[in-house]
Amino acid sequence: MSAHHFPRLLAPLDLGRVVLRNRTYMGSMHTRIDMGDDPVRRMAAFYGERAKGGVAIIVTGGCSPNDEGLIEPGAPALLTSDQALHEHRPVTDAVHAHGGKILLQLLHAGRNGKMDNLVGASDIRSPINPRKPRALTTDQVEQTVDDFVRCAKLAEEAGYDGVEVMGSEGYLIHQFVAERCNNRTDEWGGSAEKRMRFPVEIVRRIRAAVGPKFLITYRISVLDLAEGGSSAAEIVALAQAVQAAGADLLNTGIGWHESAVPTIAYPVPRAAFRFAIARVKRSISIPVVASNRINTPELAEELLASGDADMVSMARPFLADPFFVAKTAAGLPQTINTCIACNQACLDHAFANKTTTCLVNPKAGRELEFQTPKPTRKLRVAVVGAGPAGLAAATQAAERGHQVTLFEASDAIGGQLNLAVRVPGKLEFAETLRYFREQLTRLGVDVQLNTRATSRQLASDQFDRVVIATGIVPRQVNFPGADHPKVISYFDLLTGKKSAGRSVAIIGTGGIGFDVAELLTAPHPASHRETSEEFFNDWGVDVAPESPTGLKEMHMSKADCQVTLLQRSNTRIGDRLGLSTGWIHRSRLRLRGVKTMTGCTYERVDDAGFHVTVDGEPKLLAVDTVVVCAGQEVNRTLADELIAAGVKVDVIGGAHIATELDALRAIDEGTRLAYAL
Ligand code: FAD
Ligand code: NAP
Ligand code: SF4
Repeated sequence: MSAHHFPRLLAPLDLGRVVLRNRTYMGSMHTRIDMGDDPVRRMAAFYGERAKGGVAIIVTGGCSPNDEGLIEPGAPALLTSDQALHEHRPVTDAVHAHGGKILLQLLHAGRNGKMDNLVGASDIRSPINPRKPRALTTDQVEQTVDDFVRCAKLAEEAGYDGVEVMGSEGYLIHQFVAERCNNRTDEWGGSAEKRMRFPVEIVRRIRAAVGPKFLITYRISVLDLAEGGSSAAEIVALAQAVQAAGADLLNTGIGWHESAVPTIAYPVPRAAFRFAIARVKRSISIPVVASNRINTPELAEELLASGDADMVSMARPFLADPFFVAKTAAGLPQTINTCIACNQACLDHAFANKTTTCLVNPKAGRELEFQTPKPTRKLRVAVVGAGPAGLAAATQAAERGHQVTLFEASDAIGGQLNLAVRVPGKLEFAETLRYFREQLTRLGVDVQLNTRATSRQLASDQFDRVVIATGIVPRQVNFPGADHPKVISYFDLLTGKKSAGRSVAIIGTGGIGFDVAELLTAPHPASHRETSEEFFNDWGVDVAPESPTGLKEMHMSKADCQVTLLQRSNTRIGDRLGLSTGWIHRSRLRLRGVKTMTGCTYERVDDAGFHVTVDGEPKLLAVDTVVVCAGQEVNRTLADELIAAGVKVDVIGGAHIATELDALRAIDEGTRLAYAL
């Protein structure tokens, strides 16, 4: 594949005021990089790296135009010239040094703020925020519009190429537009025209206040997926009105944060919502930016070729790989580290008040931590185990100039990620395996598959450093009948060594227990990539333009298998799943009829089934199969043998600590170790 395969994605875009170098747009992300230590240098390094990687426009994380609009306490607001000069100018300079353009996103959180004293279009509480907002008075609405304008002018002073006015995802502007949270009776509420007055005035007054080269993007919700949201006709009317008010580009968003339909996590098929984007594009003349679940250059090119959009916004894909565009332009799209839409280190971190990074790229947001110069001495490094920990260690060590041999006992790289891809909806992990495969080849790592490394082999002085990444072993259970033929491990099920019957009990409700329940109840095999139509049917998305909300009844398709998930503790089932994705798994399994039992004592398995006690009451689950997903234990026999033989080893990933191990920690540990060699 060459750059010629991406003629539209790589083509410049003339916006009249400025010419963009290509059609890529890095969407805004609330990274919290701007809230920790040394925020200005870290943001300059973060955004500068992405500009260096070739993206045309970068949009910053949301920045409030006043103190009331913060997304959370301590979140950024741009209020003074002093801030513009000292907190923002170094960031815009870093982007411009690499030929990029950067827009400040103006975001007033309204009723979605995670703090007290919230304001809103009306005093209607958000279903996902316990705090009730107070309605802005008419004068305060005028003041808020002025605040947006002042903030845009300060952005210009700070060297930004423009602003993105955030009008989607349920923040203040969206709250004004939708009847669902605007019951005002003044000139800012009532008819659809009056409700859209707030965004239109913001855009119109910013346009009048800023210079001719300054860009204005408006981010519009093209599909509300919430009762009381805007209809397709109202959305089109708003798009036309912000265009007339002076917007140069229309970026798109899907749904409200409180929508009960997934919009960006991995269960969403790639570019699923393009139909709603195309609908708006057909109705206006300024360029439209497509967004949501677009993560490859091939798909971006196809979206542009189809005429559904003029530019493509990707946010998380630029966390995963800052050089996405440069690699595409070099004709090497297969070397892109693809965002797998897991949300584990980006959205889930932000929800947990942690700084955002990326599961597949632990350097994201931490660019300054990974600037150690390459070592002068080339070491001979053995890495044992080609799971994500070993793969990250091997590739990063090779990248830093070491000579690396990677031993893997099985016939393929990937470790447990090879099991993850067998879970319906988790096919995106295959992109991570492809990426690592490319890296191993490019960096000349000596990969020895089907080779179980032994302590004797490693103890020879062939290697300067030995890294043990041998992963885990599934935890066994030891109640009577644990060896009954009905009892199988998740490992045997997922590798296809054993199969389950039509009635199944699953021991353990961690990520793997849930994944096994997904697998057993899914209507299609894991290799099936769910189509948008299937997804819409499952989650009740109505594509008809006349639909008032974009919603219809859900019809979750399922296999004919009765599954019960069991755990010993009395906590809520699935509590430890990802903050932004756990609800998707819980909803889907509930809709597929999966039962759950907490507070279980496992008594025995026999020919009759699985005997358990719940709250002192004995119960018999007459199941065909019991799948054990009871967590894992470290696999460190090799490490211990080497240590006993006096060999210094570094132990990473599951082999180091099995509890709460995931690919995020495995890749992070592997990467950091490589930098420490
Ligand atoms: P492993 O992946 O276990 O790799 C260890 C490797 O070492 C194996 O390939 C093994 O063959 C090899 N090995 C062992 N001994 C030797 C030896 N002596 N010589 C040579 N090779 C050896 N994590 C997430 O973050 N998100 C998810 O969505 C997710 N989904 C999952 C779904 C499933 C079904 C499963 C099973 C796991 C999932 N995980 C997920 C967990 C994630 O895959 C693991 O946390 C991660 O793979 C651990 O990485 P590791 O490199 O430490 O170990
Ligand atoms: P886990 O999350 O630790 O869950 C283990 C489950 O087994 C718990 O429900 C636990 O509940 C039960 N359990 C523990 N010890 C037991 C015992 N001795 N006997 C019976 N039950 C026992 O582990 P996992 O599901 O194996 O997942 C492993 C790791 O992979 C996790 O850390 C997870 O982060 C990662 N992963 C992530 C995802 C994802 O989507 N992000 C998906 C899959 C896996 P009780 O103690 O209450 O019985
Ligand atoms: Fe994408 Fe997952 Fe990285 Fe977030 S953590 S950017 S979803 S790969």
